[in-house]
Amino acid sequence: MFGGNKIKSVFAREVLDSRGNPTVACRVTLLSGATAEAKVPSGASTGSHEALELRDGGKRYGGKGVLKAVDNVNKKIAKVLHGLDASKQQEIDQVMLKLDGTKNKAKLGANAILAVSMACAQATAVHRRLPLWKSLRKTFNFHREVRLPIMTMNVLNGGAHADWSIDVQECMLVPKQKKQADRLRAGVETFHVLAKILKAEGFATTVGDEGGFAPKLKTVENAFDVLVKAIKMAGYKPGRDIAIATDIAASEFYDAKAKLYRFKTEGRDYDAKQLLARYKQLVHDYPIESIEDPFAEDDWAAWKIATADLRKKTVIVGDDFFVTNIERLRRGIDTKAANAILIKMNQIGSLSETVAAINLAHQNGYKTSISHRSGETSDTMIADLAVACGSEYIKTGSLSRSERVEKYNRLLEIELEMKNA
Ligand code: PGA
Ligand code: ZN
Repeated sequence: MFGGNKIKSVFAREVLDSRGNPTVACRVTLLSGATAEAKVPSGASTGSHEALELRDGGKRYGGKGVLKAVDNVNKKIAKVLHGLDASKQQEIDQVMLKLDGTKNKAKLGANAILAVSMACAQATAVHRRLPLWKSLRKTFNFHREVRLPIMTMNVLNGGAHADWSIDVQECMLVPKQKKQADRLRAGVETFHVLAKILKAEGFATTVGDEGGFAPKLKTVENAFDVLVKAIKMAGYKPGRDIAIATDIAASEFYDAKAKLYRFKTEGRDYDAKQLLARYKQLVHDYPIESIEDPFAEDDWAAWKIATADLRKKTVIVGDDFFVTNIERLRRGIDTKAANAILIKMNQIGSLSETVAAINLAHQNGYKTSISHRSGETSDTMIADLAVACGSEYIKTGSLSRSERVEKYNRLLEIELEMKNA
């Protein structure tokens, strides 16, 4: 139908995320009747260079309400988008950026803008009668072949996500089987064996924010040892069948004044040089696929040296370091810092800016990992985005809790959709 993908209405509301905090949901309805509702996630260990997540403050929900962001969608954004073509994502996002007018989306809120941006893409897919990943390929004209991303599964949670049970935030399983379904099965089987091992050794098997276990292990090496043990006991070969990845989230424990990385649980301080030496040892001793945020978000010198040293052996991922921001990524490329970027839509606050970061990374030989946040929802769009852009990796948490598992389930569904295409 002519004009069918023009926007008829945009409606936001306040819903809850997986931690029980308010977040923004937005429904976009097109003239054709196609309609979709998107929900935005929310981080806990956020980078200080991220776009602004607008919260209400005050007493309601401990200050975490998002009624201002919801109002900004319903009273301001809805008006300017009415009648525009929802499939022209860049145009839609630009209109919102202009309306906001700030560098970090402080006026309307990145949570407001992103909710609308995601919902436009999802409603467009419905209108086109295409799976979301296919529709995204059409909208953004991605050049890479579609592929099912390697999954990095966060089965041991620490740091700010689990009350500092261990110093590093995430220890992940990275299954390497050919088929997505086999990789998922390998991860899940290892996850359940891991529970048995922890229980047998007297540790708690309660889970952290991303559905991984949060045992009070003494050191990072202890955590990796228990993962290797679980991989073996589940019948897989560490490295060949299942590798390990970690998110150090080093900004969380960097003392900028003293220039020291303070491992709280271990009670040890490191300068950047000593910490790099420890990473080199870890990469030597364990089958480590990738290390995320090994240094603090503004410790550019350490990132540069570490990249030169480790890049041939492992993937060095910038999360808080790059915050899905092309200006920071460009500086990383120019100074040869990191060789991969974590991609989080809400760090930058719109879909087309997210895609710009993905494209810049791929054009410059940087790998991408499309990522969830620690506060998630039932929205599974990151699975579609990862497949659409041909991302090497996806990071979407553990093998428990629906808000995590639904992304894996969506990947299984996409695997079938690809076969039937
Ligand atoms: P966050 O954690 O969503 O709390 O920022 C995820 C990560 O650091 O990768
Ligand atoms: Zn991270």
